[in-house]
Amino acid sequence: MNYRHAFHAGNHADVLKHVALLALIDALQRKDTPIFVLDTHAGRGRYDLAGEQAGRTGEAEGGVKRLLALARDQRPSTDSLRAQAAGNAGPAPLPRGPGALPEPVLRYLDAVRACNPEGGCTVYPGSPLLLAQALRAHDRLACCELQAEEAAALKALFAGDGRVGVHRRDGYGALAALLPPKEKRGLALIDPPYEAQEAEYDAILAALAEGLRRWPQGIYALWYPIKQRRTLRPFFRKAAALPAKSALALELLIRPDDSPLRMNGSGMLLLNPPWQFDAALAPALPALVSALGEAGASSRLEWLRRAD
Ligand code: SAM
Repeated sequence: MNYRHAFHAGNHADVLKHVALLALIDALQRKDTPIFVLDTHAGRGRYDLAGEQAGRTGEAEGGVKRLLALARDQRPSTDSLRAQAAGNAGPAPLPRGPGALPEPVLRYLDAVRACNPEGGCTVYPGSPLLLAQALRAHDRLACCELQAEEAAALKALFAGDGRVGVHRRDGYGALAALLPPKEKRGLALIDPPYEAQEAEYDAILAALAEGLRRWPQGIYALWYPIKQRRTLRPFFRKAAALPAKSALALELLIRPDDSPLRMNGSGMLLLNPPWQFDAALAPALPALVSALGEAGASSRLEWLRRAD
């Protein structure tokens, strides 16, 4: 277990994953009834973008930092000007409205900015922190992290927050151990480090099958890296055969997927996504392509299976 997310926090893959994650939570929270969220591979929850590890790769520069700079440079809407004139504390709100970035992207950037109240972007919230920020008093979050130091940091981050449970345990096993939740509605985020290559996909398929067996109505969101997309076809064939009501893939390739040596993009496989989630997220993908992509960048939103 050599993977440390601090080297990659806030990169293009985190941007895609976290934009989609917050849009899923927002859709779930349209109803008042409580939700349960399971984060199977949680990481440490909070990353120092000014630190040595993030600095060594500089990946956030081409991800969240580029997006934030772009959002700030856009023409302010009258609403944001009005909020500024009213003397709202903190940094000026991001411009919204025609010509601004789509709402799911701005909603994500607002969540990142909430972790950086002094302005700038030195703190990057990992999935547990983004989720905890979004939880209502009656919602619940369970985070699993196997690596000792990361799990300890996560426990410290949520000490005293009764809505959040941190478990130092295998995240795949948690899909069997912690499901179904008493809340009935909710989401499992599965965000493995893919250190085991092919074997990781077998573990994912088995865990998703077990999760669906225990909690058929749950939403499952799996993040996956893309080097060459065609190598993922066997996995998609098997994933489409899982007994979910529907399956949607959304992808952001920041360059053509012609090199097997580097991560050219990433995707989210969503099982049982909320109604009209594709329409809500659709504008975000081309905006991320033009904000973060190099020549030949592209995005995809594709149903592997539609609900009957
Ligand atoms: N989900 C996090 C986010 O979006 O901020 C990032 C998670 S990072 C990609 C993957 C994490 O999974 C690492 O912190 C790693 O230590 C942890 N990990 C690796 N194998 C695991 C396992 N079997 N169960 C739980 N956590 C694991």
